[in-house]
Amino acid sequence: MPELAAYASHADQSRGRRHQEPAPSNRSEFQRDRDRIIHAGAFRRLEYKTQVFINHEGDLFRTRLTHSLEVAQIARVLARSLRLNEDLTEAIALAHDLGHTPFGHAGQDELNACLREFAPEAGGFEHNLQSLRVVDELEERYASFNGLNLCFETREGILKHCSLAHARRLGDVGQRFIDRTQPSLEAQLANLADEIAYNNHDIDDGLRSGLLTLEQLQAMPIFARHYAHTLTVWPGLAARRLVSETIRSMINTLITDVTQTTSAKLVQAKPADAVAARGCGALVAFSSEVRHEADALKKFLYENLYRHYKVMRMTNKARRIVRELFSAFIQEPRLLPPDYWYDDQMVQARAISDYIAGMTDRYAMREHHRLFRMGEQFD
Ligand code: MG
Repeated sequence: MPELAAYASHADQSRGRRHQEPAPSNRSEFQRDRDRIIHAGAFRRLEYKTQVFINHEGDLFRTRLTHSLEVAQIARVLARSLRLNEDLTEAIALAHDLGHTPFGHAGQDELNACLREFAPEAGGFEHNLQSLRVVDELEERYASFNGLNLCFETREGILKHCSLAHARRLGDVGQRFIDRTQPSLEAQLANLADEIAYNNHDIDDGLRSGLLTLEQLQAMPIFARHYAHTLTVWPGLAARRLVSETIRSMINTLITDVTQTTSAKLVQAKPADAVAARGCGALVAFSSEVRHEADALKKFLYENLYRHYKVMRMTNKARRIVRELFSAFIQEPRLLPPDYWYDDQMVQARAISDYIAGMTDRYAMREHHRLFRMGEQFD
């Protein structure tokens, strides 16, 4: 592995963990974070959580787990070629979606609406904050602390966005939202890798599901260009390979673009170290032309895939399940297992939100079935 750049996050200069622990003996602090994330229960549950398509709609579609692995793959390539800390980037990428509710964004929006309605002072639901809550509080694996006790740099990278009100409450990881500075370069990189991964795999899954067509996608310059190029190199290539090669070529171009643009920005900004890099604005970026094309693609996917009537039917159902679960539990908390009972209404609402957010798609459907169908067996 190449030597880390001066502005990379160095594990031995980490701002440390919330609870002091002996240094790891055979791996770096960031490697230990990555390993803790992989062993977490919330990580395993990503396998059964929706990316766009509900888990039971087909075995070949991306789930939050395979999405997180693709993000980690892209982030690691970028980190290594920019001489940034690959272990930290990988840890952030693997953890970035741990706080996602069942049923993707529909589940999150509904849970947010429920919390705001039933416990307005609780501050709603944000999946980035929930990811941090999972690694800081909710995982129960270690004898002497709650959560995974990750390094500051990993926690900072997980908290991609957050409102000012929350930032004020969060202490050290929230400070950058108040100071308006950037997170580490590794965190910026994991964020962009997320975008590269989902834009491309949503095209792939969209085509596979038949909800998107090649004709529609031709209207997107970035897709049309790579598609035409692939056909020039391999005329008459069969459809499945053609789509795959087109997407491969798009991902490659995006990675190359980020590497070149970021390298140039780093040469110009010359941050002396990782702390200085945080004050230089967003250094990890696409070139403006590619940024423009990627935004157009995002918009296209939003209009044509995420709001496709078949996806809308599914998300509508999902929202109803989340709302009905939340209302049943808040009206009668005794429907929950005893360790979720609280006297304080706000704490109770947050515990219900944690309970629902932790569910997989199929668990939420099963739970809904158990609570609302008469004649079901007790289980
Ligand atoms: Mg993601």
